[in-house]
Amino acid sequence: MTAPAPDPYLPGRPDGDLDVDRYELELDYRVSTNRLEGRAQVYATAVRSTVRVSLELHHRLQVSQVLVDGYRPERWTHRGGLLVLKLKHEIASGAPLVIDVRYAGHPGPKRGPWGEVGWEELSDGVIVAGQPDGAPSWFPCHDSPADKAAYRFTITAEAGYEVVANGRLVTRTPRAGRVRWEYEQSDPMAPYLATLQIGRYLRIATGPREEALVPPRLRDAAAYDLGRQSEMVALFENHFGPYPFASYTVVVTDDDLEIPLEAQGLSVFGANHMDGRRGSERLVAHELAHQWFGNSLTAGLWRDIWLHEGFACYAEWLWSEASGGRSADEQARAAHGRLSGLPQDLVIGDPGPDAMFDDRLYKRGALTLHALRTTLGDESFFRLLRTWTARYRHGTVTTEEFAVCAELESGRPVAALLHPWLFERSLPALVRG
Ligand SMILES: [Zn+2]
Repeated sequence: MTAPAPDPYLPGRPDGDLDVDRYELELDYRVSTNRLEGRAQVYATAVRSTVRVSLELHHRLQVSQVLVDGYRPERWTHRGGLLVLKLKHEIASGAPLVIDVRYAGHPGPKRGPWGEVGWEELSDGVIVAGQPDGAPSWFPCHDSPADKAAYRFTITAEAGYEVVANGRLVTRTPRAGRVRWEYEQSDPMAPYLATLQIGRYLRIATGPREEALVPPRLRDAAAYDLGRQSEMVALFENHFGPYPFASYTVVVTDDDLEIPLEAQGLSVFGANHMDGRRGSERLVAHELAHQWFGNSLTAGLWRDIWLHEGFACYAEWLWSEASGGRSADEQARAAHGRLSGLPQDLVIGDPGPDAMFDDRLYKRGALTLHALRTTLGDESFFRLLRTWTARYRHGTVTTEEFAVCAELESGRPVAALLHPWLFERSLPALVRG
């Protein structure tokens, strides 16, 4: 059991009085009116002795009933996106509890420093893009990436739509013009990676473990643009170790999206990312790589986001080289040239909440890995990545743990090499291997 610390990048959060083991969500949804009725059963453990526990739930959703272990708590309040329960008796540290929340409303995105995050209506359907703090836009949760849990999603929606959540489709039951879908995600998952995708999609196989849900009009373009994902998986398995989940699904929305986004076992692209010419293949590789870096190995605090984005960006360069494009070294030199002409005011090992998704962090994170690779040599570098993903599989990670792992695995004092890349502002020079 862990007691996740509050993340300074996300102020106003509950301070981790719960460690959630499993969420069971039962959602009844009408696409036509964007009306959601939900029941969430949250199986958790108290991380300290307390009479007060809390979950986050967006204020657009109204709570009608809360039970704790089958009984009404002393009282509960739902204000400012925080559902606070005062228990009848103090619960001991380490004791289990089940919080059962009934809620309903018209969900929508959370607005904050990162724009609109979480639940979003499409022209004809829904996407959920939870990174970094959008999970409470559709279910009550302890929205800390360090608090991974198992999930069951049961969603009932109008017939005619494909409904996708994370994990394995267990049952699909049509009934009176509606369909009930049940998904089970047994691998531990951070709340921000939980997703729901609803649309009028075709399901197409894009590989032995890969499928895509695409609007019928984009079927051929998507089949072509996603056609090399199996080769990407093979390349990444070779470099990063086994693919960490049972399957991989890509959803292509009929609407355009500003950026694609990753969820666990799944990625979402906009119609604009499928041009039928592999114009966005770099991003296809990027999102796939997040399954290892971000989803299986998840930074427990957002300050360590380079462990997601730097690695996913480096994976783009590896794919470029393997698929006959520019080599990783050429990509690194080009990126270094561009970064050296931009302001050097970013510490990627602790960028601050406003710069978490700054492109300079992505590129400099990838350059950090390239510098490490140049120093260690290919064999030692890729062995390190495979050890890293194996040791922390489905877990929570920090930059310090990566530095320690790199030193242990390589037998070299690489922390000194990593430091200026990660914790100083000025851009280090790229050395030639
Ligand atoms: Zn990314």
